[in-house]
Amino acid sequence: MNFNIQDIVRPNIQRLKPYSCARDEFKGRPARVFLDANESPYNQPYNRYPDPLQEELKKLLSEVKCVPADQIFLGNGSDEAIDLVYRVFCQPGIDNVVAIEPTYGMYGVCADINDVAYRTVPLEPGYRLNAEKVLAATDAQTKVIWLCTPNNPTGNALNRTEIEKILDNFRGIVVVDEAYSDFSAERPFRVDLERWPHLIVLNTFSKAWGCAAIRLGMAFASKDIIALFNKVKYPYNVNELTQQKAIAMLHDLTKVNLWLAAIRTERPKLMAAFAELSLCEEVYPSEANFFLARVTDADVIYNYLIECGIVVRNRTRVALCGNCLRITVGSPNENTELLAALRKFRVNGGKA
Ligand code: PMP
Repeated sequence: MNFNIQDIVRPNIQRLKPYSCARDEFKGRPARVFLDANESPYNQPYNRYPDPLQEELKKLLSEVKCVPADQIFLGNGSDEAIDLVYRVFCQPGIDNVVAIEPTYGMYGVCADINDVAYRTVPLEPGYRLNAEKVLAATDAQTKVIWLCTPNNPTGNALNRTEIEKILDNFRGIVVVDEAYSDFSAERPFRVDLERWPHLIVLNTFSKAWGCAAIRLGMAFASKDIIALFNKVKYPYNVNELTQQKAIAMLHDLTKVNLWLAAIRTERPKLMAAFAELSLCEEVYPSEANFFLARVTDADVIYNYLIECGIVVRNRTRVALCGNCLRITVGSPNENTELLAALRKFRVNGGKA
């Protein structure tokens, strides 16, 4: 595709002379004594600033994700990458972005924080993506299209051909958030980065990797886009403890794969049992580690479950999700507990 990324970068970011941190300057030369960064000489190893570009971690990730290390950005959760997309590409008060609806809420929140107009295009029945409608919502000031597959909160994977239509016809940034792609059988977009220089794919350690606490998100994109993210990010945005834990996880892939298999086995069982409940109106297809279900009265059932000590996500006030609950697939015991509580619920009479 004939596309020059510099054409859509914010002018102040094009001009920006980034902060050069102490560890950027010395890099590449052997050293024993570090008196460059005003660190404490005590309390090793926590006294030292972490690697600003997380090179060891990216090298390992590169092998697992099949993406070259210089096409990887790491941040404080994928939420950091979402915010960076606005800060690098969108001029406050001038530019706009287009997103599907319903979808992950942070795309809209970050648009508001950055004072960028957020345009939404409702998904079709069955929460299907219609590329023409998304493209029709764009104009000359549209810098970004947000897609999420499998989509949160609907759980379904968006149609690949429709996503490709958007990638082939839009001359701005297309973000495909694949936070849940490990749970899906679809081919991930991150392995096709070379086809689209304006594609950014998001991944996270918070879902399949069981590491929401360490706050580590990934963005995969062209070298030019990654260089822009590195220019704008905080110098030491991923702390040392997080880098160390992520490296340890990457050395123990068997564990993650066992967890993934367990969730994939539990998901259809839980969904089928949920569909049998008298309070359930519809269970929507899912390729994620959660599913969306329409129930008789989402508010009442949500509150009933809270009384039972069980928390699900009430999505009833989200567009196209009236009376819907979003339920994460838990451990076999947790799922059994959820189902047992719901079986005791009387549709018209509340708690049994
Ligand atoms: N994208 C999607 C689709 C999500 O659902 C979430 C979290 N629920 C995120 C991104 C953010 O993930 P992280 O923990 O990496 O910030």
